[in-house]
Amino acid sequence: MAYPKAVQSLIESFRMFPGIGAVTAERLAFHVLRDGRARDLARAIDRAVREARRCQICGNVSEADPCRLCTDEGRDQTLLAVVEEPRHVEALESAGVFHGNYHVLMGALNPADGTEASHLGLDTLLRRLKDGTVEEVILATDPDAEGEATAQLVLEAIEALGDQAPRVSRLARGLPAGGAIEYLHKGILEDALTGRRELRLRSKE
Ligand SMILES: [Zn+2]
Repeated sequence: MAYPKAVQSLIESFRMFPGIGAVTAERLAFHVLRDGRARDLARAIDRAVREARRCQICGNVSEADPCRLCTDEGRDQTLLAVVEEPRHVEALESAGVFHGNYHVLMGALNPADGTEASHLGLDTLLRRLKDGTVEEVILATDPDAEGEATAQLVLEAIEALGDQAPRVSRLARGLPAGGAIEYLHKGILEDALTGRRELRLRSKE
């Protein structure tokens, strides 16, 4: 049995997303067809794709390029937090515990969903570090397996800068294992930041 072409194409579109298998894609497609709000969803997707761009400096999604945070001269230009997703910037900003700049990778190393090092735009990050303004990079990726692997990857990329490499630190281990940054409340985030530990760079040994 074959579904109509339009339905088949909707199912295939859902399958492009990470973690969505054949069964879920089919369920979502039929949910969309049943639900009267599906057109609103389609319009919202269309608008977000047209209007949200990525900041050329930090990689975050933004309506303006450069984004509001990158153009804020009141922020501490010597500190740079590397995070996985825009929602992590939101979490740190709403907690009000970090006043440096951000670099958003838009993902974490995850062979299962096909996210590889080349998708994380590390060359943009390295270019930002070369003028020497940033004195410390804080690896603020999630404390789970993907986040740790990503932190290690970024550390190695920075090490390769040799003498130009800034200090690199990692959020404190006090973070609950597997606790995603956006779910941590202000007190825990603040402790994780103040308790961050410096990682030793091979190039500076
Ligand atoms: Zn930006």
